[in-house]
Amino acid sequence: MVTRRSPARKPVAKRCPDCKGVGEITETVRVGPARKRRDTGDQQTALCLTCFGSGLAPTD
Ligand SMILES: [Zn+2]
Repeated sequence: MVTRRSPARKPVAKRCPDCKGVGEITETVRVGPARKRRDTGDQQTALCLTCFGSGLAPTD
């Protein structure tokens, strides 16, 4: 009798903790040269550098 192995379950991808699985983060907009840096108070969305926009937590 041949025992059939159940198909390996696909591991559930963890969501990126930085962007909450969205793939984007909001960051404060800064203007001017570095030494005169000031915050504008505005925020913009940027690609999450932790998951590179995939929304999935790095497996490593
Ligand atoms: Zn992310």
